[in-house]
Amino acid sequence: MKILHVASEAVPFIKTGGLADVIGSLPVELKKQGVDVRVVLPKYKDIPVKFTEQMKWIKSIDVPVGWRNQFCGIEELELDGVKYYFLDNRYYFGRDGLYGFVDDGERFSFFCKAVVEFLQHVDFIPDIVHCHDWHSGMVPLILTEKKSIEPLYSDVKTVFTVHNLKFQGVFPKEVLTDLLQISDLYFNLDGVEFYNNISFMKGGINFSHVFNTVSPTYAQEIKHPFFGEKLEGLICYRHEKLRGILNGLDYAKYNPAVDPLIFENYSLDTIEKKYTNKMVLQTELGLPHRREVPVIAIVSRLTEQKGLPLVEGVISEMLGMDVQFIILGTGDKKYEELFHRAQEQFPHKISFSNTFNEGLAQKIYAGSDIYLMPSLFEPCGLSQLIALRYGTIPVVRETGGLKDTVTPYNKYTGEGNGFSFENYNAHEMLYTIERAVNIYYNEKHIWYHLIKNAMESDFSWEKSAKVYLEMYKEIL
Ligand code: ADP
Repeated sequence: MKILHVASEAVPFIKTGGLADVIGSLPVELKKQGVDVRVVLPKYKDIPVKFTEQMKWIKSIDVPVGWRNQFCGIEELELDGVKYYFLDNRYYFGRDGLYGFVDDGERFSFFCKAVVEFLQHVDFIPDIVHCHDWHSGMVPLILTEKKSIEPLYSDVKTVFTVHNLKFQGVFPKEVLTDLLQISDLYFNLDGVEFYNNISFMKGGINFSHVFNTVSPTYAQEIKHPFFGEKLEGLICYRHEKLRGILNGLDYAKYNPAVDPLIFENYSLDTIEKKYTNKMVLQTELGLPHRREVPVIAIVSRLTEQKGLPLVEGVISEMLGMDVQFIILGTGDKKYEELFHRAQEQFPHKISFSNTFNEGLAQKIYAGSDIYLMPSLFEPCGLSQLIALRYGTIPVVRETGGLKDTVTPYNKYTGEGNGFSFENYNAHEMLYTIERAVNIYYNEKHIWYHLIKNAMESDFSWEKSAKVYLEMYKEIL
């Protein structure tokens, strides 16, 4: 089986969020399971030189975007047995940052067109082109269009994965007709029209042979207006093509026993060393050196989706408890200011690092006791999976992938690997944190039991990649 993944980011080359982690691990696992798997990405300026200097130039081609022919360099690099192709155009991708430019519609129209064109110039015709999120959403439509004129594509099937329905790639109609040069016959409800604009996400959902979200619960949730981002009607209509497949975690990379980024390696058998991590972290972040105090962590984009309004609502009550908070994240100014102010007022209780720092993130996962993730919605979520792997007990809201991966502690049966609450309500969250903190202080044996359950939970890619394979086989 030959699979080409099309995505806008992938670890270890370039990352802004969980999508990059998925593209960094799913192909590697599929490869292990016998698939000939390749990945195509934009060649961004921000990709570290240590990778760009290893890239091998294949050839350059012209990609028509509107009335112009745009240069597209094709380069390749092999890592962990997976071949990665990089599509190079400095005008579109030679900038600082990945998204948020006024011409994103044109940049990713170029990318989608270039993906389809480059297939004619490499020695690889995939059985399935697997596209991820809106950035590659027009690929299934372009392939549908091309099939009638280019026999090369006639047997190629497409899969589309929705990592986050909120970000849809919505642009004016002209992006479809002028830049992508696709007939306006597709500018309707059954095509890619979206409230008088076009939606790349809709292109992926409507024109792929099968589509999926990254957790079973999110696949159900997006059929409802609250989660559906105005696409719930289409999603219900296409429900037979919809699957929910939980993301895995790269258990080789995220492994406290060997992680080179943390202060001291540990496993369940040497869990004492987790507390060495905690105390060095406290020192490095300027917090009082207290082993007995529960450390509550957040490593996240600071946005409404991640439940920051709930934290804002009860931050005084939270700081009233005998706990320490460690927050790492960037995002909405409002929350950045909130945490800066809280840190100024309570420097012995809260540490806020307003950056994106993978090394620090790992040290926090390893050195904290509780991981807080009260998301409004969560397609899958990787942070809680990392926390579980590092024996840091998640407190989450029961939504999407959080509901599928965190089983609340049940005092009668002893089951559970974390704590959860149902309603998007600040006091429900506060009560759940208080419950966790209370058990942490007063019932040490139960806390150890929770750590054991957390570290023994299995969310490796091996299981999830098998489910993807089943889905591929279904459409071939
Ligand atoms: P998202 O919706 O942002 O993709 P996920 O939980 O799926 O959320 O994945 C977020 C990933 O990004 C996790 O690996 C998390 O540790 C990482 N991350 C988020 N913010 C930061 C940050 N400021 N510094 C380092 N890593 C971060």
